[in-house]
Amino acid sequence: LVKFMNLFLANGRICDHEADMMFSSLDLAPSDPVFGFVEAFARDPRPDKINLMAGVYCDEDLVFRRFQTVSRASKELVEAGEMANYLPIDGLKAFYEGIGRIALGRHFEADRFAIAQALGGTGALRLGANLIVRWGQSRIIAIPDITWPNHPLLFRQAGLQIVSYPFLDPSTGMFSFRMMQNALSSLPKGAFVLLQACCQNPTGMDPSDEEWNWIADWFQERGFFPFFDFAYQGLGEGLSRDNKALLCCVQRNIPSLIAYSCSKNFSLYAERTGALLVFGEDRDSIQKILSQVKQDIRTLYSNPPVHGASIVAYILKNPDFTLAWQQELQAVCARLVKSRTHLVEALSLKNIACPGVVEQKGMFAYFHLSSEKVEALRKEKGIYLLGKGRVNLAGINRHNVERIAEAMASFMGGAK
Ligand code: PMP
Repeated sequence: LVKFMNLFLANGRICDHEADMMFSSLDLAPSDPVFGFVEAFARDPRPDKINLMAGVYCDEDLVFRRFQTVSRASKELVEAGEMANYLPIDGLKAFYEGIGRIALGRHFEADRFAIAQALGGTGALRLGANLIVRWGQSRIIAIPDITWPNHPLLFRQAGLQIVSYPFLDPSTGMFSFRMMQNALSSLPKGAFVLLQACCQNPTGMDPSDEEWNWIADWFQERGFFPFFDFAYQGLGEGLSRDNKALLCCVQRNIPSLIAYSCSKNFSLYAERTGALLVFGEDRDSIQKILSQVKQDIRTLYSNPPVHGASIVAYILKNPDFTLAWQQELQAVCARLVKSRTHLVEALSLKNIACPGVVEQKGMFAYFHLSSEKVEALRKEKGIYLLGKGRVNLAGINRHNVERIAEAMASFMGGAK
């Protein structure tokens, strides 16, 4: 027995030692910049705390509510006995072709795009990044220096080399094509450039129509490829205007990647519903691109989940549902615009000017605050913003706007 115990303990030690070798050298990864603060908010005991962080839509009562069209479609699908079998590797065709039609309107030609359903916009970005790493002419991606914090992490994790370009001109607070050009002029042919197609997160500042044309012309001239992150279609100037950046490139036959998210514009956050669309230079390349994306999917998660995609397909198949969804999306947009106006007005009554904030588009208002001020707002006032003063407009209503403005003003040089 003693001999057996000794052997057992020795083996135990060997295992422990091996375990040490395996994981003890790991660094603790930093908590996610968005979800980390969402957890801190949940732990904050103050009853009057205000959440202006994660990009999730809430109604005027600050209650998360999914679109009624989406709830109805979901219910009808379940009642009808929704398909429970595996989806094909590239997902539900009715879904992803429907997304192609919304994203590109009448410019969508199914045989010019390799499309695959993805796990939300994030999943689509990662599939696109993996495609570039394996098949891109260059492994460089240029990303704006102010962007969604997950972009640099995601592209680096995929193995891409990241360079950054200034997104806003500090003297005007607006997008600057000239500064982008200066920063990227030494990039090699074949480099990818990340652009948010509309409602830039976090700044809400999008290039103008004219600037999108300049960007597309310049990319064509230099042999750069756009990687569009399209997470907010319909939350800016409307479904048929928010895609203008894509059209500028597709009409010039510039190969492009598009990561589409249905999280915000269909309120399908938890269902992880999105798509990667790849516009190839010719019809021949499409099958090859798709085969590579499918191989990637097969080895990552085999095939995507069905429910969110079925909901979108159901809504798009039925014209009454489509119309009702579009109306709900417009109402969401109108509430965001109203919240933006109310906040800016409340601040201006306290002598705080917010140049450019009214012109910003989408779910967020961006205030260019220092990290210290954002932290002080959180600690002293219980008001949670992200980054350098990104406010989720859906967290504002007529009851809290005054308190938010008062608190912000106290850190912005206005009334105490
Ligand atoms: N891109 C941007 C700019 C985003 O803001 C988000 C979501 N906040 C995403 C991508 C990811 O979208 P999803 O939640 O569908 O993965």
